[in-house]
Amino acid sequence: MNLSIKPESLKGKVVVITGAGGVICGAMAEAFGACGAKVAVLDRLKDKAEEVAKKIVAAGGVAKSYQNNVLDRDDLKKVHEEIKADFGPVDILVNGAGGNSPKAQTSQEYYAEPKEGDITFFDLQKEGMDFVFDLNFMGTFFPCQEFAKDMIGRQGCNILNVSSMNSFTPLTKIPAYSAAKSAVSNFTKWLAVHFSKVGIRVNAIAPGFLVTAQNKGLLYNEDGTPTARTHKILSATPMERFGDPSELLAATLFLCDEGCASFITGVVLPIDGGFSSYAGV
Ligand code: NAD
Repeated sequence: MNLSIKPESLKGKVVVITGAGGVICGAMAEAFGACGAKVAVLDRLKDKAEEVAKKIVAAGGVAKSYQNNVLDRDDLKKVHEEIKADFGPVDILVNGAGGNSPKAQTSQEYYAEPKEGDITFFDLQKEGMDFVFDLNFMGTFFPCQEFAKDMIGRQGCNILNVSSMNSFTPLTKIPAYSAAKSAVSNFTKWLAVHFSKVGIRVNAIAPGFLVTAQNKGLLYNEDGTPTARTHKILSATPMERFGDPSELLAATLFLCDEGCASFITGVVLPIDGGFSSYAGV
């Protein structure tokens, strides 16, 4: 991994990353590993978590995988005990588990008389909306409740949430995901204030558009050509390209590193090629 910064004060820190078997948080886990942190790689999918932990260890770092569901509070408690026994108390929590579901998505951007097979706003079911809202919001809230217990009154501890630039302005078709990420940004500020007297910083990054497994189907047709949505995204992104997960890493390390960001709390940092700043004219 080619990192331009390697903050020294991350060395030896116990870092818990949820959703770390995924594209973005897997890369983050490797970056923390490269900085000498002890990385607890959590994911619902055991194999994916194991793969990331193995990569960190193979690169000379310290890591262990833990299968975990961020929505199961008993499971979080159990994994927390294991991490404490393996590495000691948690210094840094990165809440990366999240995502969207087709069950919480309208098929059209704008409401119009439905055609055969359309999923309109009125067709969206509680099950799909709950799934996406819970995964992104409660899946951030519960790990904070569990792991922040270790951070109270200790130096240099902090939480980084993964929001999205659609928390600033919602994207069409995905109301639950947009609302849940807005809630994540709002909660980031709430918790930053709540924990301000006990030395725990709380920040978030708000990535723009990256092509990952999760959104590939929305961005590219089966034959590899860009969808109409891709054209719209790129024309609304002043830098006129998608981001790469590696472009989130320096900001992640910076916000989590006490040496760099000791007076930064409650920020939601867009990393989006200018998308959230551009009005289209
Ligand atoms: P990803 O699907 O590659 O990673 C998400 C990981 O979360 C997966 O490994 C999955 O197994 C895990 N997960 C899902 N449900 C879980 C649960 N209940 N408990 C524990 N783990 C669970 O997705 P990604 O693109 O790497 O996204 C990572 C984060 O970044 C998400 O919060 C996503 O919403 C956010 N994000 C992504 C983009 C993008 O363009 N890809 C943009 C902005 C924000």
